[in-house]
Parts: sequence; C-alpha cells; structure tokens
Amino acid sequence: MSALAQLAQHVWLYPRDEDPNKVQPNVGVIITERHTVLVDAGNSPRVARRVLLALDERGAPPVSYIIYSHSHWDHVFGAMALGAPAIAHETCRKHLLELAGKPWSQAYLQEELQRTPAREIGLRAMGRAIEDWRGFRIVVPEITLSKRLRLHLDGLTVEIEHVGGQHAPDSLIVRVPEDRVMFVSDCYYPPPPHQRKPSDTLDWDMIERLADEDMDIYVDGHGDPRSREEFRRLTIEREA
Ligand SMILES: [Zn+2]
Repeated sequence: MSALAQLAQHVWLYPRDEDPNKVQPNVGVIITERHTVLVDAGNSPRVARRVLLALDERGAPPVSYIIYSHSHWDHVFGAMALGAPAIAHETCRKHLLELAGKPWSQAYLQEELQRTPAREIGLRAMGRAIEDWRGFRIVVPEITLSKRLRLHLDGLTVEIEHVGGQHAPDSLIVRVPEDRVMFVSDCYYPPPPHQRKPSDTLDWDMIERLADEDMDIYVDGHGDPRSREEFRRLTIEREA
C-alpha cells in the first residue's frame, strides 16, 4: 500500500499527520515523466525521508524542485533530506536566511520558549519532530519570485503565485491547471497561534477569490483536500 494518495493525473498527496500536536502538514506531489515537484518539505528530515520512500515505491522520478508554500517551519524543515533546490517568495528567502543563522538545538528551543511562551505548541512539536539537531540545516530557497512563476515540466504547467495574507505574508498558492488542482496551503488561515487575536477568522475574501477560479480540488496545509464547493462553503461561517 502506498503512502501517497492520488488526487489527479499528475497530482498526489503525502497526507498530513492527523495528530495536531505533531504539526506535520500535507506534502503535495506533482509527478511528470522526468520530474517530481513537491509542494512543501514536511516538518523534519524524518518525514521527508518517508516521502522519498513513498516516491520510490511509486517509481517517481527524482525530486527536481521543492516549492515552499510559506516560511513556517513545519513546511520547510524537512528539505535538507530531499536534495533539491527550493522555490519560494522573496520574503520567504529573507526570513529563512535569518532562521538559518540560528544556533538550532534543544537548548535554543528552550530559550525561544522562554522568550515567547505563546509559541509553546509549535516549539514543542518542533522539538519532537527533530530528534537530533546535529547536522540540521535549513534549505534556503535558491529560486524566488515576487509575484508569479511558471514551470513547464514535460508539457505540464505548474503555476506559482504569491497571495500573501494574514497567515503569512510570504504565502504562495500552486496551481496545476491541466489537472484542475490548487494547493492553497495555509494562506486563508488565521494568523499563527502565537500571533492570533480572539477576533481573528479565516480569510473569507481569500477563500472567495480562490474559489472563483473554478478548480476541482483545493488542497490546504492541515486538512483533507476539498472540492470547490466544500472550499467555498468555508465562508458560511462569515454570516454567523
Ligand atoms: Zn503556516
């Protein structure tokens, strides 16, 4: 049995860990004849190695690119195990360059926890995800975009677009138009927990704008893939 779930002809999903304490999001997989492209890297080298194993079982080509949907650690920290260049928004690169200079270790996580107690859930999950910080490395994006980037891979188009938003200013979406799939990752979520106010909601305008695009499948970072109608229905709460 494969760990990958097929969503469309070229699109697969390495599904998230359903335990929210693990903070391990979905990893999108786009496979063409000669290329595999990942949307996000998993939260740790351990998860990324499992993704590679699942790709290998599928007979997928080597990973050509990793697209970071945004700079949050749980979407990025697996990349060192994947051996491919990363593509991201230019702000994401700036942020990760800064993070790459930190003295990553369990002791550093403890210091961070004291500095920002509101990050407890994330930092604890990070500590569990990365068991051994020796040799840990953040893969800083080599390829950046400010608004849009298109990849043409064996005839398949992959469109990357910066949408920003309240969850992360560097949020990208990734479309596979031919397969009518859109990876929206966390772009319509409220701000991350440690920056969230009680009045924060999903980004209704973002959801409506993306649902207007008429894709068949919308894949977010920490939930099951949705049909366009299911995705649009998220805005029902707006009226409540
Ligand atoms: Zn996020």
